[in-house]
Amino acid sequence: MRHWLNTRTYVSIGLCGVTSSVLLGAAFLGLIPDRISAVREGRTAFAEIAAVSSTALLTAGDLPGLEAMLKLMVERNPELQSAAVRRADGTVVLAAGQHESQWQRESGEHSLEHQLKVPVFGGGRRWGQIELRFDRVSTGGFFATLYTHPWVKLLGAVFVASFFAFYVYLGRVLRQLDPSQAVPGRVRAALDTLAEGLLVIDRRQHLVLANSAFATVAGVDSDKLMGRHVRDLPWVGTDGQPLAPNEHPWGQALRDGQNRNNVIINFAVPGAKVRTFIVNCAPVLGTGSKPNGVLISLDDVTQLEENKAELALAKEGAEFANRAKSDFLANMSHEIRTPMNAILGFTELLRRGGGRSERDAQKYLSTIHSSGKHLLALINDILDLSKVEAGRFDFERVRCAPHQIVGEVLQVLGVRAREKAIELEFAVEGEIPETIESDQGRLRQIITNLVGNAIKFTDHGGVRVTMKLAAAAEAPTLVVAIKDSGIGIAPEKLDAVFDPFVQADTSVSRRFGGTGLGLAISRRFARALGGDITVESVPGEGSTFTLTTAVGSLAGIAMLSAEQAVPVDEAVGPIVSRPRWIFPRRRVLVVDDGSENRELVRLVLEEFGIEVEEAENGLVGVQKTLAGEFDAVLMDVQMPVLDGLSAARKLRESGCRVPIITLTAHAMKGFEKQIDGLPCSPSC
Ligand code: ADP
Repeated sequence: MRHWLNTRTYVSIGLCGVTSSVLLGAAFLGLIPDRISAVREGRTAFAEIAAVSSTALLTAGDLPGLEAMLKLMVERNPELQSAAVRRADGTVVLAAGQHESQWQRESGEHSLEHQLKVPVFGGGRRWGQIELRFDRVSTGGFFATLYTHPWVKLLGAVFVASFFAFYVYLGRVLRQLDPSQAVPGRVRAALDTLAEGLLVIDRRQHLVLANSAFATVAGVDSDKLMGRHVRDLPWVGTDGQPLAPNEHPWGQALRDGQNRNNVIINFAVPGAKVRTFIVNCAPVLGTGSKPNGVLISLDDVTQLEENKAELALAKEGAEFANRAKSDFLANMSHEIRTPMNAILGFTELLRRGGGRSERDAQKYLSTIHSSGKHLLALINDILDLSKVEAGRFDFERVRCAPHQIVGEVLQVLGVRAREKAIELEFAVEGEIPETIESDQGRLRQIITNLVGNAIKFTDHGGVRVTMKLAAAAEAPTLVVAIKDSGIGIAPEKLDAVFDPFVQADTSVSRRFGGTGLGLAISRRFARALGGDITVESVPGEGSTFTLTTAVGSLAGIAMLSAEQAVPVDEAVGPIVSRPRWIFPRRRVLVVDDGSENRELVRLVLEEFGIEVEEAENGLVGVQKTLAGEFDAVLMDVQMPVLDGLSAARKLRESGCRVPIITLTAHAMKGFEKQIDGLPCSPSC
């Protein structure tokens, strides 16, 4: 059946009907005053009084008085049109207002509601009558008077007013009533089992259903969501801004009756994690062509989105690491190839008969030597880094003199500074402890790296190293600042220079060399020593790298003044030439599978007057040691047939107590422990 009016209108009309019936019943029972009857009664009483007064005046023969009274009555009563005194023979004796022409005679003896006749008596007989003509109380016939009838007016007014009152009232009440009751309980229970959020809104976008999956996300009881406008929920667009109502897909679906699918919307409940939904809206068609509401399904894809973001980050990280490794490899191959080319080129030259002179040959050899040293430093760097990264670095805690370490480093690097004609200074501020508890080797490595970089990246001005003791709250720390007037570092690169394989500017490093490992290693060392390295830099003006390090206990340690720590003439002295070692005639067995290594050791030792015997593996080494008289055995570790450790063990087991010195390129932690485990005489 087609309904022209909505339910609310029908209910309102019904309620108005009931109200009107009650009103009619009340009127029927006389509970409501009847105005027309009241008017009639009033007029009758008025006419009676007028008749009594007139009779009195007539009896007294006071006609002028009677006339004056009639006029006064007409004047004072707006409803009274005219009044007259008529004799019994029909002649009008006195009149006030237009009486004769308007008086309807056809009514006979009876009074009408607007024409009242009251007999007047004089001398004991009927003398005539008083006639009073009033306004009509009602005009026309039944239907003509119906709409002017007060009851009809009252009913009409009550009906219309109560209709509007009921209509508005019902709207409010229905909204307040639990709209979820519109959806049967069984259906709601079924919808609550869905993992997907589900909302149903009515035509005015008020929620009539929210399943528990959505209520949980919204952090509200689902009953509390009922009747709320869907716009009041915290919808947020993908740009992080609140979603404007015209962007709501359910609003669009309501307007054009079309589905809206796969719209991504965020939902930001204050104090909770922002959720991401894929929203689908299906309009619910009612009796007319316009949708009656919308069914909204919300698929929570927050986790997926997070995974996506994490994946993107991980991918970015992997790509960055890959790029850094590629850059590193490119640098490394450059770094390795340059000294390698020098070594191969100059050895080839020497093989073909050497340079033109002894001096040239010496020069080539120095180049070969320094290139080899560079290669070794590079490999050491990589080894150091991999060891620190793997947490396999052992740090010592022994007493060492920091000012001496800096002094030695500056002595060595002073040569480079002089070559570049830049200043290299060392100063101590305040008093510093004579010794601290630290790892001397690592400290030297850090300072060498920082001062080496400072010299490398400075062409004008100089490098100044200052040292002071900072009294921190918990424990004092030693602060070594290396300030240069070099090229500086761009602010955005300041943090990255401490990352392994990262160089502030690859074009710069091409010019200056280096692997991008020094600072990464140094910072890790510094942190392991209870401190850190920080940097401040202004591009074009220079950088200051500051090393802090823990000093351990200072109890009983002498404090040195600036002058004591850095005697003026020793600040940056010349490189001290090394003393030449001279040995007494001794016999040494060199056990190594590499013939070049054996030969090298033989050459070096024979130069010092030591007699050398060779063995190509551990087994031969054991045999020769037991057969001959040796003062020491130089034992390689990794060898075919029998390795160095097993050979040494065999020698000890057979009672041989000759000192065994292991030679190895095996640099990983733990190896020393294996050697320590060998039964060994105190002399070995
Ligand atoms: P490298 O072997 O390349 O010197 P480091 O880890 O020691 O490796 O340094 C990383 C990068 O930091 C350098 O390539 C350089 O770009 C920058 N850097 C380090 N020290 C300085 C400095 N004193 N002045 C300017 N740039 C520096």
